[in-house]
Amino acid sequence: MTAKIERSSTQDNNALALPTQAKSFECAVVGTGPAGMIAALALAKNGIETALVGPPVNLKDARTTALMDASRQFLDNIGIWKDLRTSFTPLEKMRLIDGTDRLLRAPETTFSASELDLPAFGYNILNKDLNRVLFDLIGSCELIERIEGSVETVTSNDHKASVVLADGSTLTCNVVIGADGRNSAVRRSAGIKTKNWIYNQAALVLNLKHELPHYNISTEFHRNTGPFTMVPLPGKTSSLVYVETPQRADTLNKYQDEALEAELEKISKFVLGQLKLASPRQVYPLSGLTALQMGGNRSLLMGEAAHAFPPIGAQGLNLSLRDVAVATELLANAKHTKADMGSPELLQKYDRNRKADVLTRTTAVDLLNRSLLTDALPVQALRSLGLYTASRIPLVRRLLMREGIAPSWSLPNLMRAQGN
Ligand SMILES: Cc1cc2nc3c(=O)[nH]c(=O)nc-3n(C[C@H](O)[C@H](O)[C@H](O)COP(=O)(O)OP(=O)(O)OC[C@H]3O[C@@H](n4cnc5c(N)ncnc54)[C@H](O)[C@@H]3O)c2cc1C
Repeated sequence: MTAKIERSSTQDNNALALPTQAKSFECAVVGTGPAGMIAALALAKNGIETALVGPPVNLKDARTTALMDASRQFLDNIGIWKDLRTSFTPLEKMRLIDGTDRLLRAPETTFSASELDLPAFGYNILNKDLNRVLFDLIGSCELIERIEGSVETVTSNDHKASVVLADGSTLTCNVVIGADGRNSAVRRSAGIKTKNWIYNQAALVLNLKHELPHYNISTEFHRNTGPFTMVPLPGKTSSLVYVETPQRADTLNKYQDEALEAELEKISKFVLGQLKLASPRQVYPLSGLTALQMGGNRSLLMGEAAHAFPPIGAQGLNLSLRDVAVATELLANAKHTKADMGSPELLQKYDRNRKADVLTRTTAVDLLNRSLLTDALPVQALRSLGLYTASRIPLVRRLLMREGIAPSWSLPNLMRAQGN
């Protein structure tokens, strides 16, 4: 349901004076990307009256997202996996191939989900399909009111937060979820600073049709300029994230289809046979961002409003769903105990809970990426030794596979199988 909200007569910049006529909710989720939509559904599932505020949902995003098994479990626990399941392709195996031309090269390694007694490590979906299903679920959820628009500012006092939209309209709530992406207005309103960095790399992203079946195996070539990863989609199709120098990515992006297909076949060593482009191409310059706090101003940050890093190892949205799970647990508990959902204590608890996970995932993705880029022999030796050990020692293999799915040391309850 898309709603109009009342317009406040004057734009109120005074944090202590909230408009009296504004419509009120328990929670306002700002941002209509996957993190925001899933947050709204998780909160509603826990009986929390939620406004979902943001621009129209992107139903054309040709990228794909691989969600790991812990995320699948979370979506199941909040009752929406059954609606999404058929749009996902299972990732049963992960094959790592050293495609560098270096002196010390790692052995080819294939990890199998069956070694963890799982049917799949994760599941891959086209973002436009994910967004479409989430959008439909939101439309049919009575506890979510969809408010179309862009948020300008959030102000707060000891009792409420006030969310002001670009058209001057306002709503009030107990707590705000900032899932409004890298340039988050919620984060800016809370005065939360970020650490930002850039890589001399860009990802060429597109989908492919291929001659040979993928057998639900995700294949990653480690190359001197970054990974080249093909992730299964339905039938004989896969998504590709190909990390290169920005100059090379730009050059490749200008290639004619046939020339680009020939180049991709060469890099992929024909493991999927002949390739055909099956989507428009997109180029993403690689960069990273971490919010120095995850909450403030009656607001909790999640998704790319709180952390962003290169699309390597399928970690971004999986990390965001752990934000969503922890926030949902805290807010549901506050509602149950009639505590203040936007209290400084709750915000601090969220911040303390999320920081270590965000830091370790950001660091792991950064290290993995940089270990490919450096020519330093000791780093190459360590990388090769690490993969060699992983390929030979079952205990190390299982540890690596489990940690790739989610951190065992900080898995939110909502991501665990219910009844355990
Ligand atoms: C090529 C690529 C491949 C990836 N593959 C994977 C993968 O396989 N697995 C994985 O886990 N992650 C992956 N990621 C990361 C994942 O896509 C992101 O983590 C995820 O999209 C972030 O979702 P989000 O909802 O936090 O942010 P976004 O998708 O950026 O959504 C932010 C939302 O906020 C809205 N918004 C912005 N400003 C305002 C405002 N002022 N008011 C209201 N709304 C606002 C925007 O319109 C948007 O709807 C990939 C990323 C890329 C680039």
